[in-house]
Amino acid sequence: MNRNRRHHPDLAHHHPVVHKVRGKWVWSCDCGSASCRTDVTQLDWHQVVVEALRHATTIAA
Ligand SMILES: [Zn+2]
Repeated sequence: MNRNRRHHPDLAHHHPVVHKVRGKWVWSCDCGSASCRTDVTQLDWHQVVVEALRHATTIAA
């Protein structure tokens, strides 16, 4: 069993996608997760991308 901690997390199971819905940038993932805070606070594209990446890395951790 390989227990080495790798710098790059395994993102094979999560591919969050950033897209624009009704003028707002959101991200969604095949696992069913999606950005929800964007309903309250409008995030720009870069922030949504960061959120999406955070989701993928958080789940993989
Ligand atoms: Zn996911």
